[in-house]
Amino acid sequence: MHYQPQRDLLQQRIILVTGASDGIGREAALTYARYGASVILLGRNDDKLRAVAQQIQQEGGIAPQWFILDLLTCTPQECHTLAQKVAIHYPRLDGVLHNAGLLGDVSPMAEQKPEVWQDVMQVNVNGTFMLTQALLPLLLKSDAGSLVFTSSSVGRQGRANWGAYAASKFATEGMMQVLAEEYQGQLRVNCINPGGTRTGMRASAFPTEDPQKLKTPADIMPLYLWLMGDDSRRKTGMTFDAQPNRKPGISQ
Ligand code: NDP
Repeated sequence: MHYQPQRDLLQQRIILVTGASDGIGREAALTYARYGASVILLGRNDDKLRAVAQQIQQEGGIAPQWFILDLLTCTPQECHTLAQKVAIHYPRLDGVLHNAGLLGDVSPMAEQKPEVWQDVMQVNVNGTFMLTQALLPLLLKSDAGSLVFTSSSVGRQGRANWGAYAASKFATEGMMQVLAEEYQGQLRVNCINPGGTRTGMRASAFPTEDPQKLKTPADIMPLYLWLMGDDSRRKTGMTFDAQPNRKPGISQ
């Protein structure tokens, strides 16, 4: 995507990022802060989140708050408690990037372990749904709210061996479409498909792939910025490819 954001694109914006401790989410949090946002980091690893918060401060960004929420075990009550804690520090949310995700096993459907299937659904769908429910009131206080889910190419076209992960990303696309219609005119709701990106998750999905052939999280940030800023203000109910010309599957 060729997009040249203004340096102050996200000034005065408050943006919460899940899975902000690593990979694409970490880069998104750093990038949003560089463009002026006040970011809120969510994850399950205190040390990793603290390190991201420190890097943002060292770069001159607004000091972020970080909160622990394990999407694998979270309950609706925990999500509401988290939203209450966020509301103590912040008047509203202008953006939420649902980025945290679990890959599970890459194996034929017949061999997918039911317990791993449930974990993938729990993190990618159920936990994400519960957190969305809890955060919606804060998002609706913004006059520029942007709710962004993270999908995948296997969330639009199923592929052998992608089992629970593919099903969870289809569900993610569904959640996005339902919410976009429910909040038309009040909140924009969209999906990003990052495309193959150099992260730990990608390396575990394709262990033989040369990571140097992949875009880095930093390379795909233009779309992440665009969807949080005013330049995408009228877009809702859509899925955007961060790497539109990339064919799904292993990089040759
Ligand atoms: P990583 O595995 O590098 O990072 C995943 C992030 O999610 C980490 O911050 C991780 O936390 C967090 N997370 C995982 N499980 C939980 C949990 N139970 N509770 C809270 N946080 C959790 O993945 P990527 O950066 O590659 O992926 C980011 C998103 O992009 C995912 O939704 C993924 O499905 C999607 N995606 C990625 C692609 C790629 O090629 N990389 C392609 C298509 C989609 P921790 O640091 O503690 O592990």
